[in-house]
Order: sequence, then C-alpha cells, then structure tokens
Amino acid sequence: MIPNRQMPQGPIDCAEALRHLYRYVDQEMSMAELLRMKEHLDGCPDCSFETVAVQDLRRLLKRSCAEKAPGELRDRVAAKIAALRQEAAAH
Ligand SMILES: [Zn+2]
Repeated sequence: MIPNRQMPQGPIDCAEALRHLYRYVDQEMSMAELLRMKEHLDGCPDCSFETVAVQDLRRLLKRSCAEKAPGELRDRVAAKIAALRQEAAAH
C-alpha cells in the first residue's frame, strides 16, 4: 500500500487533524488542506489547544536558537578584541 499523506475529502476528524498538526504548524501543506485544518480547529477546542501548544514549542525552539547565535558571535568578537589589544600592547 502506498502511504497517502493527503487528507481525505470532506471534513476531517480529530485523529486526522492531529496526524497533520505538525505539517499545519510548519505550513507544509496545500491551501486546501490548511483551510480544512482551520475549519476543524475552529470547531474543536481540543485540537486547537494542541495546535497552540505545538506553536508555542516551535516558537520557544526558534527563540533559543536565535539567542544562541548572537551570544557566540559576541564571544568571538570579544576574543578578537582581546587578541588585538594584546597585539597592540606588545608593540
Ligand atoms: Zn479535533
């Protein structure tokens, strides 16, 4: 059997919504699928709560990644400045 990642036609149920939740949050689905997910989430507090939780998690992950890079950059710049100062002091 070929695995079918497309949604079935018509309204989707909770099992279907949860199966596609990550693709929905990452927006890796077609407009038609997005609309069907939205339609279900609007009428289903359980799935919509789950979606918000996943979105928050994604945001947190993104933020912690974004904060890590400038921190490393700052350390590298600080090291470079210290090295330059030492060089200047040696002359
Ligand atoms: Zn649901």
